[in-house]
Amino acid sequence: MGGFGSGSWFRLSSKGTTESQHRIDIRVLKRWGHVKPGEFSSGVWLWSRKGKSTGMVVYCVNSDESMVLNYRHRPRGGEWETVEQRIHFAKAPCNYGGYRLWFICPKCTRRVAVLYGAGKYFLCRHCYGLAYTSQQESLQYRMLGKARNIRKRLSRGNTVFDLFPMKPKGMHWKTYDRLRDEARRASAIGWGILGRRFNL
Ligand SMILES: [Zn+2]
Repeated sequence: MGGFGSGSWFRLSSKGTTESQHRIDIRVLKRWGHVKPGEFSSGVWLWSRKGKSTGMVVYCVNSDESMVLNYRHRPRGGEWETVEQRIHFAKAPCNYGGYRLWFICPKCTRRVAVLYGAGKYFLCRHCYGLAYTSQQESLQYRMLGKARNIRKRLSRGNTVFDLFPMKPKGMHWKTYDRLRDEARRASAIGWGILGRRFNL
């Protein structure tokens, strides 16, 4: 699984960028009042560009468990076909109580907040080889990657979510302090940008 800061996260791809695709975002579904435990709900997701409609998906949400998408897709040079796709949700507990919801990408099973209709099915951006273009996101992932690499150097197997590792035996305090400060600054920049983007 590609984590924060793995180089492939922001490598540009000839297949296009996330911005140019129809996207379904679980945070938006939630904001619209869906994904409530024990409730069924449905709606229509519409996309347009410059005032012209570019696509439409009918979605039925089953509680906070899964949803089914119904739409029509036309492969390049082919005939229109009807597609039905089920997407399951994953729950991750939050530190401050409750839980956060993710889509489980139907192809690679990664937990993601956004799925893209770049082909016949809605899949994560890794599966479609889509890249973010904005400088800000690139900086964000670079900073989180930097923080993670420092943590890895200090103690194997740690991630940005764990407590900061202790000073390894044999390392100078000066070196450890410098690395810790660098990691903190990089995390703050990375998560700060994340927070502003998604209003966390
Ligand atoms: Zn995927």
